Amino acid sequence: MLSELSRDQLTELHGSLRAGYDELRGRGLSLDLTRGKPSAQQLDLSNGLLELPGPGVYRDAAGTDLRNYGGLTGLPELRAIFGELLNLDPGLLVAANNSSLAVMHDSLVFSLLHGPVGAERPWKDQPVTFLCPTPGYDRHFALTDSLGIRMVPVGIGPDGPDVDEIARLVADDPSVKGLWAVPTYANPTGAVYTPEVVRALVSMPTAAPDFRILWDNAYALHHLTDREITPVDVLGLAAEAGHPDRVFGYASTSKITFAGGGVAFFAASKANLDWYLAHLGKRTIGPDKINQLRHVLFFGDAEGVRSLMRRHRGLIAEKFAVVDRVLSERLGEHGVAHWTEPEGGYFISLDVADHTATRVVALCKEAGIAMTPAGSAFPYGRDPRDRNIRIAPTFPPLDQVAAAIDGLATCVLLAAVEARLA
Ligand code: PLP
Repeated sequence: MLSELSRDQLTELHGSLRAGYDELRGRGLSLDLTRGKPSAQQLDLSNGLLELPGPGVYRDAAGTDLRNYGGLTGLPELRAIFGELLNLDPGLLVAANNSSLAVMHDSLVFSLLHGPVGAERPWKDQPVTFLCPTPGYDRHFALTDSLGIRMVPVGIGPDGPDVDEIARLVADDPSVKGLWAVPTYANPTGAVYTPEVVRALVSMPTAAPDFRILWDNAYALHHLTDREITPVDVLGLAAEAGHPDRVFGYASTSKITFAGGGVAFFAASKANLDWYLAHLGKRTIGPDKINQLRHVLFFGDAEGVRSLMRRHRGLIAEKFAVVDRVLSERLGEHGVAHWTEPEGGYFISLDVADHTATRVVALCKEAGIAMTPAGSAFPYGRDPRDRNIRIAPTFPPLDQVAAAIDGLATCVLLAAVEARLA
């Protein structure tokens, strides 16, 4: 344990770590752990899409010509498949274009301009605050900030965000209109919200009548173990709790098929969907239904999606395992870092010694290892303890993941010893 070393021992350790780091730097590495995106091998799993729908195929089961305008709610066959997978009524699910982030953007902009169902006035005409479980998804925070919405961080543990803290914040302040939530294998901690947490979130009294949970189930199907958990029926629980309109749900096939050519989904109560579609209908005459058809034909059914996800797991689970193994071997005995062991999703969240994350990322950069900037998983990029680093292991080949994590571990140790000696 680093904390048990004397100053002389620390100085000696610093010398050997510095030598190790100089050797690392001398290797001229060029490694990148910043990209939370599928590898080329993962994308190859869906190359069948490139042949679909095939010559002369452009009608859905009802015989509708999908080449034409219309069909704002998306293909019923695709909604049925994802309704089953996401454990919700397909009637409450809309299939859209390729990006769920775009759907999040639209639903927030519609809320700002027009006010959501139950609003006393548009959000733009009043102060709006969102609660942001941290560490969280940087693009959620960037979007929120860009729309002029104030962000307040709240804590998150392995079972979901701190419901007591959230209940306190929503109870008194009517400006608190939103809570970001990545309920399954959260980005970046891997947290999985328990049914109890979900029940508490959909039930709690809120000062704002138009409070929304932005339920981004981006990783609902992205299991890394054979425990394939079923998504919580959040819309059902919200209705049961007497708050049917509290949830805006999002998902996509970005990390199931093609990250740049998948299908996104919006899920909500009937009243919310009517509201959303009324505004969406001003923005577009309908989504890319040919791409939706392609996906229906490629998947076949819900089991087709599950089996594809098992093949993804076959490609990426060992990358997560190697991160855990190298971090344990290199850092375990020193007591300077903690990291998550996610059972799904795309990320590992690493906490290094307080006030050293920025230094670690800088040391990595100098050694040719690109890490996501420290603080990026926090609202306004501010990590109060400057300790969190997000690791994204899916994109690089396995040997590069191992080499990058080994180099990262050297930087974590060196920064921790430097801080103790300072
Ligand atoms: N939501 C979360 C939590 C993500 O981590 C990501 C991508 O990393 C997205 C949404 C992006 O989704 P999409 O590709 O559907 O826009």
